[in-house]
Amino acid sequence: MSQPFHVILLGAPGAGKSTQSRLLRGRFPIVVFATGQMLRDEVQHGTPLGVLADSYFKNGTLLPDEIMIALMTARLRDVPADRGVLLDGFPRTTVQAEALDQILARLGRSLTAVIALGLSDADAIHRLGGRRMCEGLGEPFPLHIDDRESVAACLRLGGRIVTRPDDEPEVILERLRVYDAETEPLIGFYEQRGLLHRISAAGTPEDVHAKIVAILEEAGAGRQSTGNSS
Ligand code: AMP
Repeated sequence: MSQPFHVILLGAPGAGKSTQSRLLRGRFPIVVFATGQMLRDEVQHGTPLGVLADSYFKNGTLLPDEIMIALMTARLRDVPADRGVLLDGFPRTTVQAEALDQILARLGRSLTAVIALGLSDADAIHRLGGRRMCEGLGEPFPLHIDDRESVAACLRLGGRIVTRPDDEPEVILERLRVYDAETEPLIGFYEQRGLLHRISAAGTPEDVHAKIVAILEEAGAGRQSTGNSS
């Protein structure tokens, strides 16, 4: 049995964090927390948090730190002791990163690695502008409108192709601006702590996945898996 590991995927919108999370949780004994998807689920269920989140999605801005910190504090408390954690979308600000250190320390856990997926603005705009979600086939998953095969398969299997409200063109540029202003500084934050690994997000999901797996194995993550939850 290997030590549970704790990893953050950092990267601009469109860098492929959710795709990589899905691939990783099939391979390692981790619980994945994707805060954007958690909030979209709340929107769908019409909860008070969902109503609040919806107003932020429409503008492409971040929810208040204290709300996100409270949400993650509660979720991390419930992770079984033998499971590690993969964070996709949290932390997104320095305040959240500092809070995360404290939450993990209280739980007797600590970060193993932070993986920064690098992508140019031009590539991010292309990916987000063409991104659609396939819904109705279990957990929603992203696909690109240029990928006709995946679009056809989603529809054939009875899924629906929808555009996330925050992937509307006027919101995309704001999200990238917010990433540069609020989240990009975390790269320096984690570099100073010796936890940062930078990789390019260009290339196929499988190429990027292989690079992440190599980093995690180097960092001591075990190979055994599989049961997942998110
Ligand atoms: P994502 O799916 O990760 O791109 O997140 C979608 C949206 O959810 C973001 O644009 C924010 O409005 C909100 N969100 C997700 N995670 C956070 C976070 N850690 N802090 C604040 N807002 C967040």
